[in-house]
Amino acid sequence: MQDLTPMRISKSIYEELVEHARAEAPNECCGLIGGENGEPKSVYRARNAEASPLRYNLDPQDQFRIMSEMEERGEELSAIYHSHTASPAYPSQTDINLAAYPDAIYLILSLAEDEAPLRGFEIKDSEVTEVDLAVER
Ligand SMILES: [Zn+2]
Repeated sequence: MQDLTPMRISKSIYEELVEHARAEAPNECCGLIGGENGEPKSVYRARNAEASPLRYNLDPQDQFRIMSEMEERGEELSAIYHSHTASPAYPSQTDINLAAYPDAIYLILSLAEDEAPLRGFEIKDSEVTEVDLAVER
């Protein structure tokens, strides 16, 4: 369910996402964001097991390691992020088909546009719903 308050993405989180996306370009980057009390706090980079410019798949070992690390720090999973290097910040058909977590927020950062937009979505039963983000930059 969408909360009424937008998810706040701090300047440092946004910058880390842009940095990761640029480092992996032209391939898509991906990772997880841990948070506390609904507020995103930490960016955890994961390997894109597909190493592809068109799709991503969080490396399962990375995902396991990151989830344990979050738990140790008392964080919850805030969001799953990935980049689009040549398309808009909107879920691709592949993203929709492979979305495995109906309660997660999927963040997509696009490098295809100069201002590197970041948008958030829920993907439930192949249905995409945008969630409000307050991105500080
Ligand atoms: Zn995608």
